[in-house]
Parts: sequence; C-alpha cells; structure tokens
Amino acid sequence: MRSRFCLLILLLLPVAGLAADELFDIKPVADGVYAAIAKPAYKTNCNAAIIILDDGVLVVDTHSKPSAARALMAQIKTVTDKPVRYVVDTHFHWDHYQGNEAYPSSWPAGLEIIASQPTREAIESRGIPRVKHEILTVPRDLERLRGELARAGADDRKRLQDEIAKREAYLGELRAMQVTLPSMTFDRSLVLYRKTRTVQILWLGKGHTDGDVVVYLPAEKVIATGDLLHGWMPYMADSHPYDWIRTLEAAAALDFDQVIPGHGDVLAGKDRFRLWTRYFRDLMREAAEAYARGDTRAEAREKVAAALRPTYGGPFGHYFDESIAGNVDKAYRTVGGVVD
Ligand SMILES: [Zn+2]
Repeated sequence: MRSRFCLLILLLLPVAGLAADELFDIKPVADGVYAAIAKPAYKTNCNAAIIILDDGVLVVDTHSKPSAARALMAQIKTVTDKPVRYVVDTHFHWDHYQGNEAYPSSWPAGLEIIASQPTREAIESRGIPRVKHEILTVPRDLERLRGELARAGADDRKRLQDEIAKREAYLGELRAMQVTLPSMTFDRSLVLYRKTRTVQILWLGKGHTDGDVVVYLPAEKVIATGDLLHGWMPYMADSHPYDWIRTLEAAAALDFDQVIPGHGDVLAGKDRFRLWTRYFRDLMREAAEAYARGDTRAEAREKVAAALRPTYGGPFGHYFDESIAGNVDKAYRTVGGVVD
C-alpha cells in the first residue's frame, strides 16, 4: 500500500509543477532577475518581477487573487529557495494587489509589502469597496451563464461549464479575501542596499494613478514599470494625463536596457516610452481641439479616434479599438471637466 502511495505522489509531483507553471512564463532578464509574464487568464493577472537578493526575494506586484500569487510563489521556488521578504505593489488596481494576502500568510515572519502612501490609501478607500462590489456582481454574471448553459447545445456546454467554474472559484476567493494593505510606505524613494545589488523603488510623479512606483535596478539596467508603461494600450480612468507625460519622461531618463512591464512581454530599450508620451501628447491635443470646437463627447470620440488611428492603430494593434473610446472620454473630461 505504502509503495503504491509513494508512486502516486511521484506521479503527481510533475503534474503539480505543471499546474503551477500555467499562470506565468518565467523569463531571466539578468543574473537573479526574472520577469514573470502572465498568461491570459480569468481574471486578468499582471506580470511580476522577481528580484533575488542575498537575504531573500523581492517580488513586484501580486495579481488578481491570492491563488495567482501562490502559483507564482511555486514558480519562484523553481529558481531559488530563498524566502520572499519584500513585495512591492506598484499601484492600487485590483489586478496588481489582490493577491497580497498570500505573501504574509506564507512567510509570516518578517515580510514587508511596500507601496507609495497614495497607493496604500487607495487600496483602503477604493480597493476594499471594489472587492465587496464584485462579491455582489460576479453572482449576476454566474446567473446569466447558468441560464445560457440551461439552453446550450452540446457544443457550448463544456465552454460554459469552464466559464462557470472559473467564476465560482474567483467568487470563493473574493468572499474569503482578507484585503491586505501595504505594511511600509514611502514618499519619493526607498532604496534597498544589499551585498549583491541595489534596488530603487521610485515614485516619479503622478501618472496612471497618483501612486504608481517603478522598481529600478541601476547596475543591471532593468526597470519594472507596473502600468505606468506596458505592452497593451494605456488604461486611463484613474490617470493624470499631463503628469503622466512628465513622469514617463523622468522614468525614461533612467539608464536601463530592459523593461518588465505590468502587462505584455519584456520590452527592450525606450521605444515604448517614446510611443506612449507621443500618444498622450497627440491625444490631449486632439481632445482639446475637439472641446474648443464644441464637439459633443460622442463626436469627440469618433473624430479623435479617426485622427489618431493612422499613427497608433499599428503600434497598439487590436488594443487601439478596444481602448480608444475610454481614453478619449478621459482626455475630454480632463480638458473640459464633465461635459456631454
Ligand atoms: Zn494592470
């Protein structure tokens, strides 16, 4: 019996390894520095940066739920046996911090979750209500899917059952979630000086939110940017567009060759910074012109999108049409206040 049990465990081990691998691609970017690139999933997860220090590990961002953070921890164990000692929340959005809880529960002794003060405040004032709101709205989504399942033909049943199972699991995590606030905040910069490397955690100005921070490794020439810059299209709802341009310029002035962004693949060099700053300038100028000539918001949406599409439709790909309306709305409101 015992040997059969051992065999069973041996058979299960690689499978458990594979299951943990499913959420992230771990890519080395420098000695002891890895990008964990999130694979598409329900719910969307952000990327992480994994930085190995002499006394432990620093992880940037914690994804949408504790199980995603635990899946990353399992993958971290494939590259180091050191404990995670520092977690950085780049900003307050749900897909970057809702996994926080998993870290102190796995390493209860001496783990700090680091963020800017505005990020900590926003998780408390906006993150917690958002979790409560989702606990009420995910069941509505489930009800709709169960209705579809009841009417579905054989071809759609499997897909719908998967969709339902994912939402049920997420809802279970939300209901059990102990929203975990950062334990350490700072104003402009927090620097970890360790024997093997120096890690700078920097607030360079308002941008995608008022509290975004970057994690910069000057010797390795690597920067992790959260959602101040990534491989998709900027999400602007909580942003400060004019400040964002200056903040990106400040980040681009640092000396780095590789970027671990909040979403999308590792980026080389500074081209993406130039693309985003140019995009914000053009977007804000077009929105200001639309406002000045008396366009309604609906007209502005259409005309600004048409003006920007030839330049940005290519570099942003399918994200352009998915995000442009929201971006124009934000730009228009920023220029003119609430106008319809
Ligand atoms: Zn994000």
